[in-house]
Amino acid sequence: MSRVTHLQPEFVKFMPESFASGKIYVSRRYSTASHLCCCGCGLRVVTPFKPANWSLSESNGAVSLHPSIGNWSFPCKSHYWIEGNRVRWAGAMSPAAIAEVRARDRRDAERLVRESWLAAMRRRVRAASIRAAEFITAWWR
Ligand SMILES: [Zn+2]
Repeated sequence: MSRVTHLQPEFVKFMPESFASGKIYVSRRYSTASHLCCCGCGLRVVTPFKPANWSLSESNGAVSLHPSIGNWSFPCKSHYWIEGNRVRWAGAMSPAAIAEVRARDRRDAERLVRESWLAAMRRRVRAASIRAAEFITAWWR
């Protein structure tokens, strides 16, 4: 098992059956990317593009993912950044640091859920007041 230092992006619609090491498969249609863990352990890392997950940027065919990839659930617990097709290794994180990152991710996810709930409520209130206004207008005629 050897560490991968570069990832070559391959833009696909669906994820392929088998993955080659040193490649990152990007599906814009399904807003996700996936690659084999850069430590060489062979596990698949899936990075969905969502506000609480990852964002992908691309320039001149080189891809970057933000934030870093922390494979805490893998035995290797590898942690690295993908920047312009290059793999930048981060130091091993202490269990406390991992817990901190996980708590932050959870807070971000909860905040997004709260915000979308508020947006849905606002839409509902707006729709209800439009209906009320239409009812009153109809009644006055
Ligand atoms: Zn690994």
